[in-house]
Amino acid sequence: MSFQDQMLICEKCGKKFVFRVEDQRRQAESGFEIKPPRECPDCQASKEVEPGLREGIIKWYRDEKHFGFVIQRDGSEIFFHRSNFLGEEPAEALHEGTPVWYELEVTDRGPMAVNVHLKE
Ligand SMILES: [Zn+2]
Repeated sequence: MSFQDQMLICEKCGKKFVFRVEDQRRQAESGFEIKPPRECPDCQASKEVEPGLREGIIKWYRDEKHFGFVIQRDGSEIFFHRSNFLGEEPAEALHEGTPVWYELEVTDRGPMAVNVHLKE
């Protein structure tokens, strides 16, 4: 697949910004379809965490450790604990590449995924 830098205009502040090849590739490699961001990186960074479900993909889950990581829409990774999985058997349900829904919660120790559940 080939990528090209795209010049976009932020929906919030109207500033021009570049949707870079690296970011596009990162989305593609994470298994997401490539979707240009609607806001510039500055506006995205200053935004409060919006409530609601987000889509992610399981990076890995270790049952003996009781935690794992979800790859977020932007390609970054976020921690989740077994107790935040809404399901019976996380070890059987959660594998590398499993699509999930989750909500983002910002805790003292940083952001984490809660209410993690299977997409299907
Ligand atoms: Zn902006």
